[in-house]
Amino acid sequence: MKKTPRIAIIGAGMGGLATAAALHRFGIQAQVYEQADRFARVGAGIQMSPNAMKALRGLGLEEQVRRTAFQPQTWNNRDWDTGAVRFELPLGQKAEDQFGAPYLQMHRGDLHSALLSAVPKQQISLGRKFLDVQTDAAGSKLSFTDGTTVEADLIIGADGVHSRVRELLLGPEKPTATGRVAYRATFAASLLSHPIGECTKWWGEDRHIVIYYVTSAKDEVYFVTSLPDGVWVDESWSAKGDMAVVRDAFAGFHDEVSDVLRACPQVHRWAILLREPLERWHREGLVLLGDAAHPMTPYMAQGAAMAIEDGITLARALDHAPDIEHALSIFQTARKARTAQVQNISQANTWMREETDPTWCYGFDPWTEPLDI
Ligand SMILES: Cc1cc2nc3c(=O)[nH]c(=O)nc-3n(C[C@H](O)[C@H](O)[C@H](O)COP(=O)(O)OP(=O)(O)OC[C@H]3O[C@@H](n4cnc5c(N)ncnc54)[C@H](O)[C@@H]3O)c2cc1C
Repeated sequence: MKKTPRIAIIGAGMGGLATAAALHRFGIQAQVYEQADRFARVGAGIQMSPNAMKALRGLGLEEQVRRTAFQPQTWNNRDWDTGAVRFELPLGQKAEDQFGAPYLQMHRGDLHSALLSAVPKQQISLGRKFLDVQTDAAGSKLSFTDGTTVEADLIIGADGVHSRVRELLLGPEKPTATGRVAYRATFAASLLSHPIGECTKWWGEDRHIVIYYVTSAKDEVYFVTSLPDGVWVDESWSAKGDMAVVRDAFAGFHDEVSDVLRACPQVHRWAILLREPLERWHREGLVLLGDAAHPMTPYMAQGAAMAIEDGITLARALDHAPDIEHALSIFQTARKARTAQVQNISQANTWMREETDPTWCYGFDPWTEPLDI
């Protein structure tokens, strides 16, 4: 890109920070606007598969993440009651050799902190909720709810599943509630009466629960569920749930599950929402990425991975292309099919239920994937 564009990224989540960090590596400056006043360490785990780890490696974050994260030797898929193994995916060194990077499990807050450390502090503006944009030949004028404005040549909507930027691009349209909720919690492993598997998905008929360690010391445990619930549609990371409801919903599940749920002191809940794959992700000077472009059910553990891959790809396109519009078109072409495939498989909830070859997903490297320039 010849002229240095003024870039505004809306949202300092996984996708927004990855984009800013990748642009920074190319010497392109961007300002990130985040609605929150500060970053809280929300109680959740997150899995970073080898494709995501390759993205983080290119940002210089692999060693930092390895230090705190847990590297499971295996991912087990088991029947809810008997515990019979349906499919076991070897991880550890085997996966590292096979896919070119490790498969790691970590606290979401640790991943967020790592991404944050790769963006210069002065490029992040907190307490700035993006509201609107006015565009003319000179560029775009963004306004925020605190009454402030800024000018930009490119707005990157990395503002999550309820994206305001997406609304401006496509008009009002609510995400679809799936009629299912997720309960999730992290808590001290010392509360358990027995050790647990390193990473296990317990498959029930109409519900499941995934349980794993999130620290290298194995001292913190995480679980996330998916349960039918036609009523709850609010999507908030901070909504509290009731552990009695969760224990009841998983009554009869294997002893390992009961033990985890018995030990867990408190839980959050969150409505699982989705949107269909999108035809067009950009217009002049405005583009979507991450959950704003392709929110998905969490059943492949790939939402953040896709957002981070998007960020790397968009930064590469902006670095290579002669102008912003070319870059946005290159970016969309590079990302549409892959993210739609992940959205569709995630929605079907079939990933790893039976024998699955994940090479197409985990073998991917967003830094070297050819771009159509
Ligand atoms: C329970 C659960 C488990 C998951 N597990 C995994 C997993 O194991 N692996 C994985 O890869 N993915 C996982 N995901 C998916 C992953 O969390 C999301 O896909 C990912 O966070 C999307 O990143 P994002 O940057 O697009 O959006 P977000 O991370 O949601 O970030 C959006 C940011 O934009 C800000 N924002 C919103 N509106 C505005 C505005 N108007 N102005 C300014 N700022 C704004 C928000 O405050 C937020 O900081 C999971 C999701 C859930 C809910």
